[in-house]
Amino acid sequence: MKSYDLIVIGAGTSGAYLAQRMARRGHRVLVLEQASKETVGTKYDIFHIEQREFSRLEIPRPKGGDAAWAFEFEKNYNADPLTKFPKCQMNPMVGLHMHAYTLLLDELAQHAGAEIRYGARFTDFLFDDGGKICGVKATENGEDTAYSARIVADCSGMAAAGRTKLPADYGVETAKLTDEDMFYVVLRYVTLNDPKDYLDGSTFWAYYKSWIAPCADPHGAIIGIGACHSFDYAEQVFAEMEQTVPLPDYTLDHIERGRTPYTRSPYSMVGDNFLVSGDAGNLTKSVNGEGVTSSMVQLQIATEVLDRALKLGDTSRRALWDINRKYNRTQGAEFAMLRALLVGVVNAANFDEFQYAFESGIISDELLNAMNGAPLPAARVFDAVKGFAGGIAKKRIRTSTVKAALAALKNAVAISDHYKHFPETPEGFEQWCAKADALYQKIGKIR
Ligand SMILES: Cc1cc2nc3c(=O)[nH]c(=O)nc-3n(C[C@H](O)[C@H](O)[C@H](O)COP(=O)(O)OP(=O)(O)OC[C@H]3O[C@@H](n4cnc5c(N)ncnc54)[C@H](O)[C@@H]3O)c2cc1C
Repeated sequence: MKSYDLIVIGAGTSGAYLAQRMARRGHRVLVLEQASKETVGTKYDIFHIEQREFSRLEIPRPKGGDAAWAFEFEKNYNADPLTKFPKCQMNPMVGLHMHAYTLLLDELAQHAGAEIRYGARFTDFLFDDGGKICGVKATENGEDTAYSARIVADCSGMAAAGRTKLPADYGVETAKLTDEDMFYVVLRYVTLNDPKDYLDGSTFWAYYKSWIAPCADPHGAIIGIGACHSFDYAEQVFAEMEQTVPLPDYTLDHIERGRTPYTRSPYSMVGDNFLVSGDAGNLTKSVNGEGVTSSMVQLQIATEVLDRALKLGDTSRRALWDINRKYNRTQGAEFAMLRALLVGVVNAANFDEFQYAFESGIISDELLNAMNGAPLPAARVFDAVKGFAGGIAKKRIRTSTVKAALAALKNAVAISDHYKHFPETPEGFEQWCAKADALYQKIGKIR
């Protein structure tokens, strides 16, 4: 049986990124990908990466003319439900073709020394006499095969083919995603009928969780909506949005639909000789369900820990625990905090309150820029507080919404603080989980 240091399930963006980073460090890496090379990364066409992420994550930045490059833009508008008071943030974004970018990352992994077997489907784990993972079973061209591995990483996307096959007591949650744990995304690729409407950036309507953004065709656009519950519900919200938002006149070219995890990541992402990442570990952003770069943040941590563990010859859950600790105390804490805030505010605020927040200066360009790390001038904080107080006095903001917003803030601080105190070692993990469960119970889910 062929033997590897690391077997990665899935050659999507997460699997390819991990494979490349581990192969570059001299480890023997095999990636099993059930799709063919021609169909990998074809679940939808266009996705975005913020320009600043390319250097932070050390990933290739395609340019105009490259197969993966589609378009780029800098202006990101956030708008009220009536689109009368849009706010603008400058945040350069690059639009990429998912299939071509996945192939680019796959090629980089191969170049670094990783082996990728397309058309090879992981079917189960191999366990040693002590019940610990020691390899995988796979099916290739209708034939059953097996490979031994010191570590197996599940990067198989939402299906979580590896994680959900683990024994329940392996130390990683094994539940499959339910319909309520996903974000349903509908993308309308359209041609804009009037040149005056050609886009110079994207516009996001938080109230409807909808947006219009450029696409590869400069005369076109992608009108997107992301909603909980179902595709039907997403269409229902889209129909409501069309009633208030003055969308440009367009001709529909085609529609793409996709789902993305919209729930917390497992509290522990490691087991003995095991790691879960990417959509398989629900590592998507809690604000919008995007997951390409947020998974890579965890994988940067994972690479350092796996590399050290392989070199020291100890790949037990305890040895890999630093992945949990470092991730949960940083991005994990940030995502948990944003989830609590978002759920509280979005569930409580109604149409008029959203409209008032934009109109009154509670939401300003500077406040939105601050969310991307820019300094927030004191005058804008003052405007926001004044707008809020004025809204209560003029009865434009209901007392129930104020209460819900304050409760959301309290929950956000509590859950973030809890994640920042994620246990140093597996000791104390169960108590930590019990408290986290109780906090998530209070936070609830987005409607
Ligand atoms: C419509 C839509 C738009 C989105 N837009 C953005 C965006 O703009 N920016 C962003 O960051 N994110 C976006 N996302 C989310 C993003 O697509 C995912 O978070 C990301 O692609 C996850 O990558 P992954 O490698 O973890 O999983 P995947 O890309 O799903 O890759 C998993 C791979 O594993 C393979 N696999 C599965 N089971 C097995 C098995 N048993 N054996 C072998 N191989 C297997 C699959 O074939 C697949 O190739 C969007 C999602 C949707 C639905």
